[in-house]
Amino acid sequence: MTMLTFPALVIRECDYAENDKLITLLTAERGKITVCAKGAKSLRNKDMACSQLLCYSEFTVRERGGYYTLSEASLIRQFFGLGRSLERNAVGSYVAEVTAEVCVENSDESEMLSLALNTLHMLSETDREPDLIKAVFELRCAAVTGFCPELSGCAICGKEDGRSYLDVMNGRLVCSACFNPEPGEAGAEELATARIILPLTEGLLNAMRYVVSCPPKRIFSFSVAEEEREDFSRVCEKYLINQLERSFPTLEFYHRIKAMSL
Ligand SMILES: [Zn+2]
Repeated sequence: MTMLTFPALVIRECDYAENDKLITLLTAERGKITVCAKGAKSLRNKDMACSQLLCYSEFTVRERGGYYTLSEASLIRQFFGLGRSLERNAVGSYVAEVTAEVCVENSDESEMLSLALNTLHMLSETDREPDLIKAVFELRCAAVTGFCPELSGCAICGKEDGRSYLDVMNGRLVCSACFNPEPGEAGAEELATARIILPLTEGLLNAMRYVVSCPPKRIFSFSVAEEEREDFSRVCEKYLINQLERSFPTLEFYHRIKAMSL
């Protein structure tokens, strides 16, 4: 039996057996770890509070044969500001759900952990629009998990002419000249099989380039013109969801709340 101590973010929790709870933790160095909190209902209040969804805590766990059991926990940070609105809360849950989907066990997930914590901080402590925060998270998440779109220039001719299109399924740019190639021309066949093509203005393209390439701590240090925010959010969401080839209940919930508040 080994005792391990590490800081981790709780990204999933569910009841297990009569009195136990399974919590999924995201750690920087060990990736995703599922820990059994035995006798969850009889755990000391402190350990219970620290093992709730989206708490960032220092966990001590016992490891035996690849199974982990919670020994104790002490809270490092809780994102109370998520409770300011249903929308913020919903995006927070979505961050947890996506993170649990893309992160793996026994791997360095320091970039995803830092992205999740930065995103939760922005949602909880600032007044930036939840929709914009969500979009930045989605695009950067795609980049960190190996689905970074190639945005340097048109994938077919290499040029850039101001107005480009994002070929979502192939994660690449296509310029407007190559967008409608004559049959038989270079690229015609590839484009015929690409299913989702989204137009990008120069402003949108620059925002996307920034988010996929800036230093981790600077991902929210940019702005998108107000009239382009909705398009930016739509493109980032479509991109991530199509790369992961699934949707998320928390994302659908977020859209229902958003529709109600309009
Ligand atoms: Zn081109």
